[in-house]
Amino acid sequence: MLERVLQEIRARRRFVVTSHARPDGDGIGSALACGQILRIMGKDAEVVMHDGVPRIYQNLPFADRVVQADAVPASAFSDALSGAFSDYAVILLECDSIKRTLLDGLEKCFLINIDHHASGRNFANVNWIDSTVMATAELVYRLARLACVPVDRDIATCLYTALMTDTGSFMFEGTNEHTFTVARELVLAGADPALCARHIYFGHSTAKLRLLGAALSNLHREGPLAWIWVTQEQMQRFGAREEDCEGLVNYALSMADVQVAIFFRELPDHRYRISLRSKGEVNVSSVAEHFGGGGHKCASGCSIDGPLAVAVSRIVERLLVEPVTMNTNASTS
Ligand code: 5GP
Repeated sequence: MLERVLQEIRARRRFVVTSHARPDGDGIGSALACGQILRIMGKDAEVVMHDGVPRIYQNLPFADRVVQADAVPASAFSDALSGAFSDYAVILLECDSIKRTLLDGLEKCFLINIDHHASGRNFANVNWIDSTVMATAELVYRLARLACVPVDRDIATCLYTALMTDTGSFMFEGTNEHTFTVARELVLAGADPALCARHIYFGHSTAKLRLLGAALSNLHREGPLAWIWVTQEQMQRFGAREEDCEGLVNYALSMADVQVAIFFRELPDHRYRISLRSKGEVNVSSVAEHFGGGGHKCASGCSIDGPLAVAVSRIVERLLVEPVTMNTNASTS
């Protein structure tokens, strides 16, 4: 499928590259690298994101060129609408649907979907989904190599940051010697691991730390499950943004006898965004998929209706029907 993707890219001249709304490190890093790879191939490429670039990723090369928009430019689909061959294509990275980009107009465009989620779907004209890799960044890296595009320090920095964040700093299940081989190649190409880590892990806002304090004061335990939440009122009080919630769930997972951690974020419409994380014995992807979301075995997400007590009991009940023995007798609230 990589060859097919490259063939479609070679046949076209203009590209929009995008990822899902509220982009994470893999979404942003892969998109920035992919945009630059296309430019080196002589293409006209623009990275368009519904939510722009989260603060901790704004130091990445090319981040200042990202266009924040609600829709793809009309020129991206005008030829396709008239039935003519369009030399425009949109590359979606890390997305299981058009909807997750929150960009209007995509359904009229020629779409290339590159993803590494097991829950990825064949929604595009060309779909390259490989769930054996730890990050979409690795697929973008392979694309660069097949296209004979030299991976310079800037591209390597974007791809390394994507790989580092999607592997949880090389700690998530599935990280293996191959992951380190790719990381090594990116470091040899110029990525600076300490600098990449500094921007991500030591670049937090004060609001995020205050929000973490509030979330941890809401810590609940039921045997191997732990959950925390934040409300809209707390987010407003601390001046926190959506992106300040990224990673908070990992603090709940960090306890020795916790197998699954859940983070509930109240949305302005009083629904809840859910982040699920597992240490490996429980497949949290199937839980997220049950509620219309998706992700990976150890990291997934979805949205469900409130109020909070109902959201918690629905998610917890679903986790308890997973085909894994989860001893909830040892409750330690
Ligand atoms: P997070 O909890 O950080 O938002 O997401 C964890 C993982 O689940 C990421 O790989 C993310 O792409 C995926 N994910 C989160 N929310 C959704 C969702 O609503 N739908 C799908 N398909 N995947 C999601």
